[in-house]
Amino acid sequence: MPRKSAASTRRGKQARAKNVILLGAPGSGKGTLAKRLVNAEGLVHISTGDLLREAVKNNTALGKKAQEYMAAGKLVPDSLIIDLMNERLQKADCQQGFILDGFPRTVPQAEALDELLKKLNMNIDKVMHLSVDIDTVVGRMAGRMSCPKCGAVYHRTNIPPQKEGFCDQDGTALVERADDREETVRARFNVYLTQTKPLIDLYEKRGQLVTLDGSISPEATLERSLQVIAK
Ligand code: AMP
Repeated sequence: MPRKSAASTRRGKQARAKNVILLGAPGSGKGTLAKRLVNAEGLVHISTGDLLREAVKNNTALGKKAQEYMAAGKLVPDSLIIDLMNERLQKADCQQGFILDGFPRTVPQAEALDELLKKLNMNIDKVMHLSVDIDTVVGRMAGRMSCPKCGAVYHRTNIPPQKEGFCDQDGTALVERADDREETVRARFNVYLTQTKPLIDLYEKRGQLVTLDGSISPEATLERSLQVIAK
């Protein structure tokens, strides 16, 4: 029998698994926080950006359709993302609780998520919004690198790997994302302001939103978010 992780043992004492949405501009620290919550709470990390990058890498039908939008820093059409999430949320691992990172990103996506959750008899417990300004985002993304094998995220100055240019977990050479160039980062931030920010009002009205300061250290953000999830 597989050994139980500390997180799953802790969760066993809770009433049920937690489902969380992370909202925030590109570079607000959603991905880093999500990976730390996976380790701390045993939640499943569902990143539409990661799923799309995987589809592009494998040259699937979805990848071919998404590629151009992503390279330009634009959003991929809602219908493609909604189909992707419909499939992903039905996988068995979602029963252990999940973190949605990068979805929903538009009001139609949020409405489609409501429908999907209803169909699957699931709920969202918390919506955490990581708040940051554009200068912080540009500064962070300019030095961002990730591991193409395990997805670990580093930053040249903020979260440096032990050996420059290589992943601490598996020694793979780190890569920079094409859409982390300053010009594209600014375009993505503007897309966020127009298309995703309205979701903050939507979840606030529902009483589910908690805003965290996304410019503090990853450790402090994790600590604060664990308190929010535990409530
Ligand atoms: P991310 O890694 O979340 O910043 O996503 C990278 C890129 O993937 C975005 O700039 C979009 O082009 C695309 N993308 C990811 N999630 C979504 C979504 N929920 N809706 C539309 N496009 C998305």
